[in-house]
Amino acid sequence: MARVVVTGGAGFLGSHLTDLLLERGDEVVCIDNLVTGSTANVEHLFGRPGYTMVHHDVSNYVWVPGPVDAVMHLASPASPVDYLQMPIQTLKVGSLGTHNCLGLAKAKGARFFLASTSEVYGDPQVHPQPETYWGHVNPVGPRGVYDEAKRFAEAMTLAYHRHHGLQVRIVRIFNTFGPRMRLQDGRVVSNFLVQALKGEPLTVYGEGTQTRSFCYVADEVRGFLALLDGEHTGPINIGNPGEFTMLELADLVKDVTGSDSEIVHEALPVDDPTQRKPDITLARTLLGWEPTVALREGLERTAAYFAEQLRLG
Ligand code: NAD
Ligand code: UDP
Repeated sequence: MARVVVTGGAGFLGSHLTDLLLERGDEVVCIDNLVTGSTANVEHLFGRPGYTMVHHDVSNYVWVPGPVDAVMHLASPASPVDYLQMPIQTLKVGSLGTHNCLGLAKAKGARFFLASTSEVYGDPQVHPQPETYWGHVNPVGPRGVYDEAKRFAEAMTLAYHRHHGLQVRIVRIFNTFGPRMRLQDGRVVSNFLVQALKGEPLTVYGEGTQTRSFCYVADEVRGFLALLDGEHTGPINIGNPGEFTMLELADLVKDVTGSDSEIVHEALPVDDPTQRKPDITLARTLLGWEPTVALREGLERTAAYFAEQLRLG
């Protein structure tokens, strides 16, 4: 049994991770300022022994009384719509927030886990992307606020490892989806599912030939724990290597929801990566991890969640 601090614990991934940690008997201290998260994601945990939630911005000094075995730093806006609306908060939580959480881990002698991203590869010119690829990021474009914050966070995490001997783990997360994504968070899976369920047009940005690889949330957070518990610092890609164009995704969403929504094309966001697919050789060989939920099945589960949310209004 361990006591784990989860920053961003009221968000989409953080809340699923928390469920898994509590299920296996760990205690969880969630620290979240609710900029993109919601108490609705964790209200089923209120009053449960071993669960505490603290409302706090981790870009400011962070302290947690008592022993801490692991600090899992997930706090950051993650949807492009969110981080483009909060560019400075995004840079701050990736830099100052990461530094503060590393300081907490060092003071407690805890293991530090960083939620990094496939966005560190930018618009990749190597495909699929292995962890050894340095990436192709535009530091001064609008997405730079997220990509560079995460790249700095990785560098800072490894500096604490090398300079202070801190035990660290870095995961590079590829597009993950599932229940508890916000209906309006602007990411492609939530947009398409909500549009299809409402009978509205599906908004494909650009030609729709750009690709992404979508991982179901239960697979993703299982990978986090394999990395946290294992002996490897990383970075390690955790994602589903199945690769789909946005047009293929739109068709699949229509099929899963039984929707006859039309597909409309809208402007492609600046610096939108043209392709993305994880090389998961390291996760398979070092962690014994691989995804088990196919995109179609994951979409069915997520559609059921969104349908219920829409019904509740
Ligand atoms: P999310 O927006 O649902 O969750 C992020 C959480 O962090 C929210 O609860 C938010 O309120 C909290 N937060 C943000 N800034 C904070 C701050 N300064 N102090 C305290 N809390 C703060 O997003 P998510 O999809 O759950 O993403 C979680 C993490 O995983 C992020 O670090 C993100 O960059 C990373 N990630 C996610 C994906 C994905 O596909 N979901 C892909 C790559 C990386
Ligand atoms: N996208 C789209 N329609 C939408 C939202 C997004 O076609 O309504 C595209 C977007 O341009 C990108 C892909 O879907 O090519 C994934 O976008 P998302 O915001 O989910 O995540 P990203 O991988 O870009 O961070």
